[in-house]
Amino acid sequence: MPTIADELKRYVQQQVQMHGRVVYADAVDPASIIVADAEESALPDMVHPEAVHADVIGDSIRPVVNEEMMTATTLDAFHAQINTCMKCPLGGTRTNFVFGSGNPDADIMVIGEAPGADEDAQGLPFVGRAGQLLTKILESIELQRDDVYICNILKCRPPNNRKPLAGETDSCEPYLWKQIELIKPKFILALGLTAAHTLLKSSETMSALRGTIHDYQGIKTLVTYHPAALLRNPEWKKLVWEDVKFLRSLYLEVKSS
Ligand code: SF4
Repeated sequence: MPTIADELKRYVQQQVQMHGRVVYADAVDPASIIVADAEESALPDMVHPEAVHADVIGDSIRPVVNEEMMTATTLDAFHAQINTCMKCPLGGTRTNFVFGSGNPDADIMVIGEAPGADEDAQGLPFVGRAGQLLTKILESIELQRDDVYICNILKCRPPNNRKPLAGETDSCEPYLWKQIELIKPKFILALGLTAAHTLLKSSETMSALRGTIHDYQGIKTLVTYHPAALLRNPEWKKLVWEDVKFLRSLYLEVKSS
C-alpha cells in the first residue's frame, strides 16, 4: 500500500509533468513553503518528511496548484483559463467542458463524479435525470440550486459514463482545488464514493463515510449517495434525506452564529 510520502511524490511528479512547477504552502508555517521547480532527478528529495508529517497531523500542507492558475481571482476568469484543457484524453472526446454552476459565494459546494451525457451535451453539471433529482433533494432542505455551487471532480465526460481513471482524476483534481479556493465554502457535500474517495483520500465504504463530519482542508464535508445511484436504488432515498437534513442542521447553526 503506498505511503503518504509516495502519494505526495506521485502528485508532485504529475504536477511537474503537467505544469512544470508546483507549490506547497504550509498554512501554519509559511516559511516552510516548498517550491518544486524540480527536475525529475530531484523528485525523491522534494517532499520533506516534516511536510508529510504536517499533512498527516495538521492537514496544513496545501497544494496551491500552479502560478498561472493562481492568478485567477474569480470563477469566470478561472473558467476562461482552463476551458480548453487537454491534459487528459477526455479533452479529446468531450462535447462540452463542464466547469460547474451556482453561487460563486456559496456556503455549500456539492461535488459529484463527472459529467454524463446530458451534462456533456449542455456544458452544465447535473442537468439529466440525476440532476433533476439533486434539485429535488436540495429543495427538500429549502435550498435552490443557485444557493449552492455544483460541480464534479472531472470536468469532461468519461466515455459511456465509466468511472474516472486515476490519471484523469489526478489531472483534473487541481481544478477543483482552485474552485474550492475561490468559493471558500463552509460545507462540502460529496455525492457518491468516487467524489468522497477522491476528496478524502479514503477507501471506506459508503456506510462508513455517511453520517460523519469529515474535514477537507478545514471544510466540513459530508458524504451521501450520488443521485444516479438513487435512481437505481430508490430505497436509499431515506438515507440521503437523513444526510441532507444533517447538512441543513449544520448549515443553520453556522448561519445563526
Ligand atoms: S477531464 Fe479535466 S484534466 Fe481531463 S481534459 Fe477535461 S478538464 Fe482537462
